[in-house]
Amino acid sequence: MFINHAMGPEPRHEWPTDLDVQALLSSGWSPSPFREFIVKVHSRCDLSCDYCYMYEMADQSWRSQPRAMSAEIADLVARRIGEHARKHCLDRVRLILHGGEPLLAGRDLIARLVASTRAQAGPGIRVDASVQTNGVGLSYSYLELFDELAVGVGVSVDGDATAHDRHRRFASGRGSYAAVSAALRRLRDFPHLFNGLLATIDLRNDPVATYEALADFDPPRIDLLLPHGTWASPPPGRVPDPGATPYADWLTSVFEQWYPKPRTGIRLFEEIMQLLLGGAATSESVGLSPARMVVIETDGSIEQTDTLKIAFDGAPATGLHLATSPLDDALRQPQVAARQIGVQGLSADCRACPVHRVCGGGMYAHRYRPGTGFANPSVYCPDLMALIGHIRDRMKADLDARLSRKADH
Ligand code: SF4
Repeated sequence: MFINHAMGPEPRHEWPTDLDVQALLSSGWSPSPFREFIVKVHSRCDLSCDYCYMYEMADQSWRSQPRAMSAEIADLVARRIGEHARKHCLDRVRLILHGGEPLLAGRDLIARLVASTRAQAGPGIRVDASVQTNGVGLSYSYLELFDELAVGVGVSVDGDATAHDRHRRFASGRGSYAAVSAALRRLRDFPHLFNGLLATIDLRNDPVATYEALADFDPPRIDLLLPHGTWASPPPGRVPDPGATPYADWLTSVFEQWYPKPRTGIRLFEEIMQLLLGGAATSESVGLSPARMVVIETDGSIEQTDTLKIAFDGAPATGLHLATSPLDDALRQPQVAARQIGVQGLSADCRACPVHRVCGGGMYAHRYRPGTGFANPSVYCPDLMALIGHIRDRMKADLDARLSRKADH
């Protein structure tokens, strides 16, 4: 029997709850099917990071979730993903094992979910599976399992020991850097599994030292994440003065170290550069590409991106559960549609902004303000504008210099 924990608190009547999806459909718009499935195989964590959006922010729905996903729900997840991929003729989907801390779910549940999702998808659909872990439990035996199952591994680490242990600690207060760096050394024996590092920025950490410490682990890519915040609860150091750009200043220092001779990829910079050249981004941090990601909670509830947990209690909820709803039902919800309609999903201020096609209003969750909902610029607006401007000017100067050298020959 499935217990539906998905209903949660009453939805708020703020944008985009009044978005008329029927009118959008009648105008010829059609939703983009999900391609990325974030599955919360375990709802608890073996760390107590003080900035965690799962446990430390407005939404507290983790408290009513079972600790681990059951085998029954894992099979249902696999069936619904397979059904969605086949219905929309997708050739490739991403299965991301997430938590809490996903490794706490255990080898059997993880192996079962990965194998049965691939079986349900069938031979014509590639399932790229990966796990996003804090690294603490990333044992050699887990790495051997991931090697066997072809599951990629992403690890969260914030820089050197001081930077990392500022926030990423055990409940006892002890830092986790020693455990995580040991796991990253084990991962060196499986370089083909290494997907990259996630690092949350703290302005107190030296930007260049942070970049170098992360690059020393030889990741194929680094994701530098802005700490979560909204207009109601701004991120640390993001003062109301629009002339202050502390996060752009920090990121610009990293960019200037990285750009002339990159040691590895940095997703935010690469995506901004790609967007400046007229391409598209794939992350939810910048750009206007439709969001094609859905979250499956530990109990089988269907949710929107989990970063919405920073906005208000119940913000990610859809009220849908896999036992009674195919994933297509979520595509018709205003909250999901709002993230698939490009410029139409931006606030009036963003639509009038000269960099809106690159910025895309920033990460959706960072736009929240009580009353106007998500119809606002990002709380990081000044930083995004300054960073994009810096990268654009740097690329332009570089291209101009190269073109004039070519003309001289
Ligand atoms: S820079 Fe600010 S106003 Fe411009 S698109 Fe981004 S968030 Fe909106």
